[in-house]
Amino acid sequence: MESAPISREIAGLLESYEPLVAFIGEYEPAAQKPGVADLTLGNPQDMPLAEVVGALQKWAQPRGKDHFAYKMNVPEAQRAVIAGLRERRGITYQIDDVFMTNGAFAGLTVTIGAVCDPGDEVIYISPPWFFYDGLIRAFGAKAVSVKVDLKTFDLDLDAIERAITPRTRAIIVNSPNNPTGRLYPRATLDRLAAVLERASARNGRRIYLISDEAYSRILFDGRRYESPTESYPHSFLVYTYGKQLLTPGERIGYVCLPPEMPDRETLRSAITMMLFLTGWAFPNATLQYAVGNLDRVCVELSVLQRRRDRVVSALKTAGYEVHSPEGTFYLLPRSPWPDDAAFTRHLRERDVLVLPGYLVELPGYFRISLTASDAMVEKAIPVFAAAMRERVPA
Ligand code: PMP
Repeated sequence: MESAPISREIAGLLESYEPLVAFIGEYEPAAQKPGVADLTLGNPQDMPLAEVVGALQKWAQPRGKDHFAYKMNVPEAQRAVIAGLRERRGITYQIDDVFMTNGAFAGLTVTIGAVCDPGDEVIYISPPWFFYDGLIRAFGAKAVSVKVDLKTFDLDLDAIERAITPRTRAIIVNSPNNPTGRLYPRATLDRLAAVLERASARNGRRIYLISDEAYSRILFDGRRYESPTESYPHSFLVYTYGKQLLTPGERIGYVCLPPEMPDRETLRSAITMMLFLTGWAFPNATLQYAVGNLDRVCVELSVLQRRRDRVVSALKTAGYEVHSPEGTFYLLPRSPWPDDAAFTRHLRERDVLVLPGYLVELPGYFRISLTASDAMVEKAIPVFAAAMRERVPA
C-alpha cells in the first residue's frame, strides 16, 4: 500500500520551497515588531491610494440582480485594458484576446498550462521571481534557469541560446525585472526574438515568449516601456494591477494575445479552459468593474524614484556595490559578506529586514524593497552603513 499522504509532485515542490517557507516563518514575526524597518517584500507600508478605496466602495454597490453573478471576462474591464494599452503603447488589442485573471500569478499559471506538455522545458531568467520554478514544474514541465549577465543585469543571449533544446516550449521574460530592476533594452529584445525565431524553425515547433510585465508601470526617469511582445509576436502579455496600485491582496490582472499572434482561436480556447480548470481564475466581479476607474491610477513614481535615489546614493557612499534600478520596487546590492544569509540575519538583529539573495538563486546579494516608508528607509540607512564597517564573520 502506498503510504505517502500527498502527491510526489507536490512533495518535491515543498522540498524546493522549504528555504522560502522557513524564511517567511522567521520574517513574519520579525515584521510585527514595532519600529522595525521592513524592506523585504513588495507590500505597502503606507495607507492605500484614495482612488482605489473609492473605486472599490463604488463598485461594491449592486447595480442589478446579476452584479455578483458568475463573471468571466467583464467586457467593461476588457475595454478599459484595451484603451490603456492603446494609449500607452499605440497597439489595439482585440476584445476576445484579453483575459481577466487573478493577477499575474494566475495569468502565468493559465499561460504555462495552456502551452506546455509534461516533459517540455520552460526557460526562466535567474535571479527569478520566486514562483516561476514551481509554476512550471506544477505542469510536469522542466524549469530551466539561465543567469543574467551579472555585470549589466541584461539578458545573456548566448546563455539563452545554449539552454534551448528541442523540448523548449517557452521562455519567461520579466522586464523591468524583479529583483534586478533592469528594463531590457529594445536591441536586446530584438536579438532575443531572432534567437527564438531561429530555434523555433530548427525545432519545427513554436517557442513562446511569456512576458511578465508586472512592473511595466513602475518605471523611473520618465522611461517608456519596452514590451518584449513588440519584438516577438508569439508572446503572451501577462499583467497584474497589484504593483501599479500597490494592492497585491486585491487580485486582478490580465493576459493579452498580441494582434499578430498566430493560432489565436485555439489559444483563446485553451486559456479560457485553463481559467476554469485552475479554479475559476477570473478576478472577482467588483474588481473587474473597478478597472475602468483604476487603469490610469498609479502609485506616485516620483516618490519611489526619490527613495531609490536616496537609498542608492547612501549605499554607494557606505561602500556598497549596487545598480540603480530603471524600474520596479527593488534594489539588488551585493552583500558585503559573502554569506548573505548571515548578513541579513545581522541586519534583522538590528531591526532592518531585507531579502537574502539565496532565495532568488543569487547568494552573495540581498534585495531591498522601495515600498518601505521613508521613515523605514531613514532608519535602515545607518544600519547598512554600520554593517559595512563590521568585520566579516569568519
Ligand atoms: N511576477 C513578478 C515578477 C512579481 O514580482 C510578482 C509579484 N511579486 C508576480 C508576478 C505576481 O503578481 P501578483 O501577485 O500581483 O499576481
